[in-house]
Amino acid sequence: MHSLTEQFIDNAWVPSRADTCHPVHDPYRETRIGEVTRGDTADVEVAVAAARRALPDWRDTAEVRRGEHLDAIAAGLEARREGLAELSSRNNGKPLAEAHQDLDDAIACYRYYATQARALGERQGQADASGIEGLSARRYWDAIGVVALITPWNFPLVSSAWKLAPALAAGCTVVFKPSEVTPLPERVLAEVVMEAGLPPGVFNLLHGDGEGIGAPLSHHPGIDKLSFTGSNPVGERVMHAATHGVRPVSLELGGKSPILVTEDADLGLARDLVMAGICYNAGQMCSATSRLLVHERLADELYAAIDAAMGALRLGDPLAPETEMGPLVSATQRDRVQEYLALADQEGLHSDTPHRALPESGCFVAPRLYRDVPTTSRLWREEIFGPVLCARRVASDEEAIALANDSDFGLAATVVAGDPDRAEAIARRLDAGNVWCNCDQVAPPHASWGGMKRSGIGRELGPAGLDAYLEPKRVTRTAGA
Ligand code: NAD
Repeated sequence: MHSLTEQFIDNAWVPSRADTCHPVHDPYRETRIGEVTRGDTADVEVAVAAARRALPDWRDTAEVRRGEHLDAIAAGLEARREGLAELSSRNNGKPLAEAHQDLDDAIACYRYYATQARALGERQGQADASGIEGLSARRYWDAIGVVALITPWNFPLVSSAWKLAPALAAGCTVVFKPSEVTPLPERVLAEVVMEAGLPPGVFNLLHGDGEGIGAPLSHHPGIDKLSFTGSNPVGERVMHAATHGVRPVSLELGGKSPILVTEDADLGLARDLVMAGICYNAGQMCSATSRLLVHERLADELYAAIDAAMGALRLGDPLAPETEMGPLVSATQRDRVQEYLALADQEGLHSDTPHRALPESGCFVAPRLYRDVPTTSRLWREEIFGPVLCARRVASDEEAIALANDSDFGLAATVVAGDPDRAEAIARRLDAGNVWCNCDQVAPPHASWGGMKRSGIGRELGPAGLDAYLEPKRVTRTAGA
């Protein structure tokens, strides 16, 4: 049993002021494997004060030194890889191989921002054209200050890396609140960060839920910026909290991403990319391609291929090497997805996906394809966050693009086409922060990640991910002596 009743503040574990806990589950075995404090406003006060105390020295620490700390965090994660991957797989339900991929992503992210920290040091004070005779100018980038980082449960260690690595590289100090549903891997992250030798107060981790920690943290006047990944309703609350004091906010929110398949596409490739886009992490991805728009000439064949693949997918113990899809993260999430399946029945949606026996234990939902779903259906329009795919047949690229963009969201998209130029031409017209043409959903650390429309504000990863924690500054002075 993991007992997470302490908060990591000033490089020490201190008891949470809260006296109640949430259970932490293994969603495959459906057993309680720990408890995590709900957190308390008093915890927030202490952590923010620690981060504020640490800010002046950390902001003035040479960028090259900050980069060394980030490399040390990457090395620490690498050293604990086996244990961490297993813990993440157990707590989240994702297959072990996917947990290893998460670790690869997180480690690469810390290493990338270590190099970005060094590059930041080199460009500090670079000369800029003043544009006015007798004056010269230089450019600098200051850390925004104390930042609050709030993350969801679907990619533990990854969502935190995408925020924490650039924030530390920029010279910000951090109060990080991981999801109360998957707190176990992030607890180990705190150990790794401590071993990486960061000064006290630079990184603080507060376990807890939205009420105990999330809300008081986002309202706290000692926080200079908020970076949030999660659902739209909570994202709106965080944004609202940020209006007090006119504080900047980055939001990575939901999606209802399309996958478009043209009539010249390779059928096997289309099937594989559709499957990966809706079954990876049991469909619990903000970038899940949950709306399929397929040319009418290929539709029946592709539907049949997807049904066959969904029927053959190996569901089971996330720790077993043969498992291709694990359970959903929790009974709550399974119930949410099942409500959509009940709604599909009420709406009379059509599915030929074989009904299959589920593993004896675990919060499983079998993957399912609904054919020719009306665009008015709630299943077509709302983020389900499970292995549920809605499809429609289209007569042209024009129709596919119009339907793809007819969504409140704009996070990601995939295009599968025989002609790569045609795929890219379609990609250019889609409302999405990332479009993958004939390839998997890759997100290397130097790329950018984020959405248009209601999928969020700002970008993570790449240079934009660092800029999110920096304030550009221009210093102009009289030229000469
Ligand atoms: P959630 O919004 O319920 O919770 C996210 C985090 O916010 C958790 O740590 C939670 O404790 C905290 N929180 C809850 N109430 C809060 C409040 N009032 N103030 C501040 N924080 C509060 O989301 P979830 O269920 O954990 O994750 C699923 C959602 O996350 C999906 O909608 C998904 O699309 C989204 N998501 C988006 C991305 C992206 O990059 N765009 C990535 C992953 C997940």
